Amino acid sequence: MPAQRDYYEILGVERGADAEEIKRAYRRLAMKYHPDRNPGDAEAEVRFKEAAEAYEVLADEGTRKIYDHHGHEGLRRGGGPATHDFSRMDVQDIFSMFSDIFGGGGGFGGRGARGPRGVARGYDLETEVVVTLDDVLAGVEKEVEFTRLDVCEKCSGTGAKPGSKPVSCQACGGQGKVQQTGFGGMFRMVTSCPNCAGRGNIVKEFCDGCRGKGRLPKKRKIAVRIPPGISEGQAVRLKAEGEPPSQDESPSGQGVRGDLHVVVRVKEHKIFERDGNDLLIGLPLSFTQAALGAEIPIPTLDGEPASLSIPSGTQHGATFRLPGRGLPDLRSGARGDLVAAAGIEIPRKLTGEQQRILREFDATQNGGVHAGRASKGAGDAGGDSFWKKVKGKITG
Ligand SMILES: [Zn+2]
Ligand SMILES: [Zn+2]
Repeated sequence: MPAQRDYYEILGVERGADAEEIKRAYRRLAMKYHPDRNPGDAEAEVRFKEAAEAYEVLADEGTRKIYDHHGHEGLRRGGGPATHDFSRMDVQDIFSMFSDIFGGGGGFGGRGARGPRGVARGYDLETEVVVTLDDVLAGVEKEVEFTRLDVCEKCSGTGAKPGSKPVSCQACGGQGKVQQTGFGGMFRMVTSCPNCAGRGNIVKEFCDGCRGKGRLPKKRKIAVRIPPGISEGQAVRLKAEGEPPSQDESPSGQGVRGDLHVVVRVKEHKIFERDGNDLLIGLPLSFTQAALGAEIPIPTLDGEPASLSIPSGTQHGATFRLPGRGLPDLRSGARGDLVAAAGIEIPRKLTGEQQRILREFDATQNGGVHAGRASKGAGDAGGDSFWKKVKGKITG
C-alpha cells in the first residue's frame, strides 16, 4: 500500500473543521471526480475514491477521533471504518445525501431523504381529550378530531394551478442555491437563490384550492390510546400526526410530519376526588353509627363491593384506607388507596320519641345540664378547647 495522504488534506479542510464543512468539502470533490462525470479518467477515479475514504473516516466521530490521535496506523489496528462505502454511491445518492445542506431535491430529483438526519420536519400540534376517572382506572381509546395543515390535493402541494406546472427557476437552474464566485475563483459562497426563495422553481399560475400555498387546513379524526393512570395535563404523543413541513422548509415536498400531542383533561367525578393515585370519598355517618361503630358499604370506582368497619367513637374527619382500591400508577400499574373521610351528620328533625331518648342519654353524660350551657365550668376539658375555638371564630 502506498504512503497515504492526510485525510484533511485530501478534503482540503482544516483539522478543526466541523461536520458540515467536511460534508461540503466531500460533496464538492465527489461531484467533481465522480466516475459518471469523468468516464475513462483514471486520475479522477483515484481522487474520487480517496475523497470517499477520507470522508468515511472523518464523518464518523469515532473513527475521526482514532485518526486524529493515531493516524492511518490507528485505523488499521482498529479495523477501520466499515459501515458505509461512499465510493460506491452514484451521483444521485450523493446529492440526496446532502440535501439538508443544499436545499433538497434540486434538479436531480433525488431519491428521498436518507435517515433522520437533515430531514425537514413539520410542526408539532396539540389537541385535547377529556376522559373520566373510570377511563383513568381502566385506560381508554378515544377518538380525537383536530385540524391540521395538509398537502393540497388539487395541486399535490406544488401550489401551481392543475394543468400548469411550476417552472424551473432560471437564476439557479432549479437548484434553489446559487454559487457566488469572487476574486477570480478565490472563494465561493453558496447562498439561497433570491429569485425563487430557494425553492428551485417558480409558480406562474396559482392553484385556486390553496391559493398557491400548497397547504390547506383539514380536519382529521384519529383514535388515541389513553393509558391507565394518566393525570390531568399529561400528553400522549402520536408520532408523525402533526403537520408536514412547509414548502419553505421542504421545497421538494419531502420530509416528515411533526407529532401530535394529545393533552388529557380529567373530568371531575361526582363522588370521588383524586389525590395522586389515591381516591378520596366522603363517608356520611349518622352520629349513632360514629358513636357505636358500624359496618358501612363503600362505593368504589372499580365496582367491586367494599365495606369498612367503623370503630365506635369515630370522630368527624377521621379517615379510613382501603389499600389498592385507588387508581393505577401510570408506570408501575400499582394501585393507590381508596381513602374515606368520615362526615358525621346530625339529624335535622327528631320525633318526640327520639328527643326523649336523647335527653335521657344526655342526662347520663353530664348530670342533666344541657351540654351547651354546661360548657362554662363543669364541662369536660375537650369541650372547653372546642368552644374556645368556636367563640374565637364568632367574635374574632
Ligand atoms: Zn432560483
Ligand atoms: Zn393547491
